[in-house]
Amino acid sequence: MAYKIEVDKETCIGCGACVSVCDDLFELNEEEMKAHVKKEQIEELGCAKEAEDTCPVDAIKITEQ
Ligand code: SF4
Repeated sequence: MAYKIEVDKETCIGCGACVSVCDDLFELNEEEMKAHVKKEQIEELGCAKEAEDTCPVDAIKITEQ
């Protein structure tokens, strides 16, 4: 199963919670203070689900490919 991960930059408040739980997949763009997805396509969910659950504004979207 493959998954696509996206961050809605309009919604993201740059809190860094996703980076704290999943820095393999997320990093904070410090200029714009928004989360950036390092790997948009992944084969296994790993910590992506945890990041999605942790985001306080539901800005992370995971879709099955
Ligand atoms: S947890 Fe959500 S709001 Fe916080 S930086 Fe990540 S995507 Fe943005």
